[in-house]
Amino acid sequence: MRILLVEDDKILADALCRALIQSAYAVDVAGDGDQADNALALEIYDLAILDIGLPGLSGLDVLRRLRARKSRVPVLMLTAFDTLADRVQGLDLGADDYLAKPFDLPELEARVRALLRRGSTHPTPSLVHGRLRLDTVGRRVYHDEQPLELSAREFAVLELLLMRAGRVVSKEHMVNHLYGWGDEVGANAIEVYVYRIRKKLEPLGCEIRTVRGMGYLMERIGGPD
Ligand code: CA
Repeated sequence: MRILLVEDDKILADALCRALIQSAYAVDVAGDGDQADNALALEIYDLAILDIGLPGLSGLDVLRRLRARKSRVPVLMLTAFDTLADRVQGLDLGADDYLAKPFDLPELEARVRALLRRGSTHPTPSLVHGRLRLDTVGRRVYHDEQPLELSAREFAVLELLLMRAGRVVSKEHMVNHLYGWGDEVGANAIEVYVYRIRKKLEPLGCEIRTVRGMGYLMERIGGPD
């Protein structure tokens, strides 16, 4: 899951960025409205966290332009003061949710998860696949409720596959949703992560299918009865 964080307060941006990366999201940070507008026009994001008060284009301008391009990327607005006018205008312009500063990190993270779930075929905090359960809140994976050891990137790959269970996920889609600007993407990066996840999951009877020339697929199956 790839997030654009638009925030001109560098200390806040750094803190949020660190927390989101720790939760295995890929994060790009834009410090002004014009940079944010460019990034949203050119890159693919699963979510934008958008501060309203920005140098250059305001957050509301960025949002107006985003929706004028017919983009449906979920937007979580950050407002400096909980003023009714800002909130109403933002929601009218197509923001999906808002958070007034100052806010607590766990609340921001919960809203991020809720917005990301909306695009998923599993609108619940747990992605269940047979005896496998990926907890999108705790950011852990369990098999028969025993925790599995996955790296942050392995977790992110598995999350993408399970969120789109029953559909083929292309490598290009994975690269677009797993990496930010600063990340180096090796040509075989996705194959390597899928290989490592398979090594951990196949002994447990969980299969990631390769669909030649298209990508990877996990079947859509529910949990145990
Ligand atoms: Ca600001």
